[in-house]
Amino acid sequence: MRRRYTTPLHIMLATLISMVMIFTIRVNAFARSPLDPVKDSPNTSLVSNKQPEQAENASQSTIYVQHYETPLALTHQDHFLLAQPILYENLFWTSADYRYGYSVKEHGTIHRGLDLPAIEGTPILASGEGKVEFAGYGLVYGAGATNDPYGITVKIKHTLKHNGHTVFSVYCHMEQTLVKVGDWVKTGQVIGTVGMTGMTSGPHLHYEVRILDEMEQKYQNPELWLAPAVDHGVITGRIENRYGYLLNGWNFILSSLETNRYWVINTYDPDIITYHDQDPYFQENYALTDVPAGKYEFTMWYNGVFYASTIEILPGVVNYINFNGTRGFEKSLPHGSTDTDFLN
Ligand SMILES: [Zn+2]
Repeated sequence: MRRRYTTPLHIMLATLISMVMIFTIRVNAFARSPLDPVKDSPNTSLVSNKQPEQAENASQSTIYVQHYETPLALTHQDHFLLAQPILYENLFWTSADYRYGYSVKEHGTIHRGLDLPAIEGTPILASGEGKVEFAGYGLVYGAGATNDPYGITVKIKHTLKHNGHTVFSVYCHMEQTLVKVGDWVKTGQVIGTVGMTGMTSGPHLHYEVRILDEMEQKYQNPELWLAPAVDHGVITGRIENRYGYLLNGWNFILSSLETNRYWVINTYDPDIITYHDQDPYFQENYALTDVPAGKYEFTMWYNGVFYASTIEILPGVVNYINFNGTRGFEKSLPHGSTDTDFLN
């Protein structure tokens, strides 16, 4: 369903709301200062800087939320091979700025991981079974380099492959690591604790997923690989202009029609597209996990028109939602897919 608000009054109201929201986001972004010049991030732990979804989670932090068992793939294109590295109840869920593909303008770098803020000392769990390929300082600058921007890091090469690709997970800024190179780890095993080593101004886990594509390791959006919480789904898709070109560095709003919760979602920086650090199948330019199943409104300004569509998010699967400047938001098949089972 798509509605177009074209009367001047609606446009004025929508503009006003949009400006207030943008202002709020800017203030938040500004309040949380700067960062790690190597794809990394800042002070994500302060309660006072929480955005609405974080504030909501903070108040729910004692509620136990179970995630789906891995691997989970209810439809053949899903690949939730990895388990959450931090228990949901220990997590202050990340804000839009510190998700995958966000451009850190001040440093000219792109965030190619997911920031999971938690207090220092929180256990970090192996996302899947595999072999420890790196542990300690120096993943970027070379083993032992204590000035490494990633700080104390663990990298695991997982046993499960996807479409022939080897899958890796990377855990950064750790306080300490409890494993060493060559160790075999199981899913959920504690491999270290959350800390502040490396370039970071607050305790959080910077978490990356990479796949080996022929000879090269490519970054992937972890939100498409981590099994979501039970009764929660994942959304991804392509936000395109009317000519079918991706709108990069754009933002849109996802609002629940059942609760007062909403998310501001940023599309990827163009560099993610240039370096093909997208999912090989979804070819997405945004993704968001742990969205409670239910009915949502997707809204966005494009070309002077305010678009809004009501779309249902299903649990345990990737919900593929596109925007195109001529059709608005719609639930559809991934780019080039002929899979008719996708929406079942
Ligand atoms: Zn980060």
